[in-house]
Amino acid sequence: MKTRVDIACPHCGWKPDGEEYWQCDGCGQPFSMFGDAGRCPSCYHVHEHTQCIDHAGGCGSVAPHLDWYIGLDEGLREINVERDR
Ligand SMILES: [Zn+2]
Ligand SMILES: [Zn+2]
Repeated sequence: MKTRVDIACPHCGWKPDGEEYWQCDGCGQPFSMFGDAGRCPSCYHVHEHTQCIDHAGGCGSVAPHLDWYIGLDEGLREINVERDR
C-alpha cells in the first residue's frame, strides 16, 4: 500500500518546487529544505522549522517542518492510535 505525502505550506498551501530557497542555520549554505527532510546536505544540521518563501509565492510564515508534509499527519496519528492500544 502506498502512502501519498504532499509537501505544502500548512498556512497558505504554497508548494516548494525543489529550488534552493532556504539557507542553513548552521553553515549558511543555500539548500532545498525538502531534499532530505530539513537536513542540510553540507553540514547535516537538521532544521525543525521551515519558512514559507514569500518571494516565490508563499506567505512567509514559519511552521514546524513536519507540518509541511500533507498526509503524513494521518499516518502519524494512526501510529499513535496503535501505540495507545
Ligand atoms: Zn549547513
Ligand atoms: Zn505559506
